[in-house]
Amino acid sequence: MSSTLAPHRRGRRPSANASPPPANTPAAMPLTYFRGRVALAAILRGLGIGPGDEVAVQAFTCVAVPEGVMATGATPVYADIGSDSFNVDAESLSRAITPATRAIVVQHTFGTPAEMPRIMEIASEAGLAVVEDCCHDMGTTLDGHPLGSFGVASFTSFEWGKPVVAGLGGEAVVRDAALRQRLAAEYEQCELPSRKKQLQLELQYLAFGLLYRPQWYWRVREAFHQLGRLGAVAGNFRSAEQSQEVSPEFSLRMSHRMTRRAIAGRQQLPAIRQHSRLMADAYRQAISSSTIAHPNLPAGADTYFARYPLRVTDKPRLLAEARQQRIELAEWYRTVIHPLEGDQLRAVGYEPGSCPQAEQRASEIVSLPTHRRTRHDFPQRAAQLLNQH
Ligand SMILES: *Cc1c(COP(=O)(O)O)cnc(C)c1O
Repeated sequence: MSSTLAPHRRGRRPSANASPPPANTPAAMPLTYFRGRVALAAILRGLGIGPGDEVAVQAFTCVAVPEGVMATGATPVYADIGSDSFNVDAESLSRAITPATRAIVVQHTFGTPAEMPRIMEIASEAGLAVVEDCCHDMGTTLDGHPLGSFGVASFTSFEWGKPVVAGLGGEAVVRDAALRQRLAAEYEQCELPSRKKQLQLELQYLAFGLLYRPQWYWRVREAFHQLGRLGAVAGNFRSAEQSQEVSPEFSLRMSHRMTRRAIAGRQQLPAIRQHSRLMADAYRQAISSSTIAHPNLPAGADTYFARYPLRVTDKPRLLAEARQQRIELAEWYRTVIHPLEGDQLRAVGYEPGSCPQAEQRASEIVSLPTHRRTRHDFPQRAAQLLNQH
């Protein structure tokens, strides 16, 4: 077995042959964690957030976000999204803030920018820290400012489906110097995943890389869900309601190998952006139907889509047809806090009915791929299916 898979114990620096990420580069000390949600929890803890505190998040998100909040002992409080966006509505956010609120997590869903100037105003009036969820971001700017440059910190994920894929993992990017120092100190205490877990994740990464082709999207997806249920692969969602205890994964870093892969993957961002732009433009041109709404882009935004979102009227039928025709069409977020339903939603503090826009959006959203495995003739194929709706 490669020495890079050698485990390393709490508090000890990686030995020389464990090949840590290269030093003396801008990425010299990346704060990379086991998952994006772990990075979020680390940022919130660094902000001194814990039991009794509230953190405002948006509905129409994935369980990773409330799970990250709850791992600190804090309570997620949900704000609705805008009537014509996938991101938090400023007024709803204002209403969600209480004396117990300590921070706001702002999500830039699909890479579309949240209404940052207004949100920053609200945050500063209430004296709250803003943490940006940049998991879908590959370089969108708003009035010339890159996403992630508004709040005190941001976090990303390197999971499947994100702009840069490294397997599993996430990074905290901290702008505030004092906060960064606190995170760096706590990071020293984080352990690497066990040798067994690292091996499992590497195999998973290899298998997915080999198997995944857009036309196999549905089959690979099913296979992984099946394996996840059997516990053979690290499931996407080990949801908070499964246990009251915080998962030990919240004290783990990302493996050196995956961190190196993420850093290398980031070098590809210009090409990733270019392909995304090409695909999004092609979708916008080719897809036209009275029952389908393209995303609305806010003024001043230069948007790169992690996936290209469409609002449709008959989501179940469209998904079934896409699956039959082997067209990659994603269903997320299937529920307001994907993939939780019913009582599971209450377990992460969401009261069904409380965020009607988010619930509506979950019932009508589908999204098309913009990643580089999407072929140039794909938008036409997708349009053939979608335009019949
Ligand atoms: C993927 C994702 C995360 C983090 O996911 P992890 O599985 O914890 O890496 C957080 N927020 C959003 C919006 C995401 O899509």
